[in-house]
Amino acid sequence: MAKVIAIDGPSGAGKSSVSRLVGERLGFLHVDSGALYRIMTWQALAHGVATADPAAVAAFAAEVAIDCRPEDGRIAYYVNGEAPGNRIRTPEINAHASEVATVKAVRDRVTALLRGLTRYGDLVVEGRDITTAVFPDSPARFYLTASAEARARRRQKEEVEKGIANQSAEAVKASLLARDRMDSTRQYAPLRKADGAFEIDSSDLTLDEVVATVLAALPADWRR
Ligand code: C5P
Repeated sequence: MAKVIAIDGPSGAGKSSVSRLVGERLGFLHVDSGALYRIMTWQALAHGVATADPAAVAAFAAEVAIDCRPEDGRIAYYVNGEAPGNRIRTPEINAHASEVATVKAVRDRVTALLRGLTRYGDLVVEGRDITTAVFPDSPARFYLTASAEARARRRQKEEVEKGIANQSAEAVKASLLARDRMDSTRQYAPLRKADGAFEIDSSDLTLDEVVATVLAALPADWRR
């Protein structure tokens, strides 16, 4: 049976960098579940679907064709043969993704896709409901958090470095907090720390320290 490391936490807590490095160290495929919600949002917006209308989003959810396949140590996604790239990382997608993620039909679709990925091998999966709803039985579940300031700082730096946007730290922080609020108060699979998940506050830790903490907390026979 495939091993799954599950990592949840609020936006900008460092889940992607940590998951990628843990995956590299162990040879587990990195799975970014947020990208699937972003793809749904991107496609809904591109097709003129009102993202604030749950019935319209639910009806549209089944129509988005997403191909998932392992590539360079991660699961890559394609929509109509195209990689979405930074088109799913814009402030506009940030502003609407949490709305789309409240819709049960969207969540059911993404959850089924994620569970199916175990056919490709061992995984490190990051998101908001991986430890609570998608892979709640994994023996390696983590809740990664950091102060709002630290999270906004990192996210802003990343947006500038990747040429995605050039927003003030305040604007980035407001957007993060708005998403956190929606993600943790929604009806289906809200963001919360799962019972028994190992909590790591990364505010004052380096990336290497967080990775080392995750690796040390894994079941002994998963470590290399
Ligand atoms: O992780 P990322 O910021 O890319 O996720 C974008 C949005 O997708 C989140 O704000 C959240 O609304 C949604 N999401 C979710 N469940 C997950 C992963 C992401 O609801 N497992």
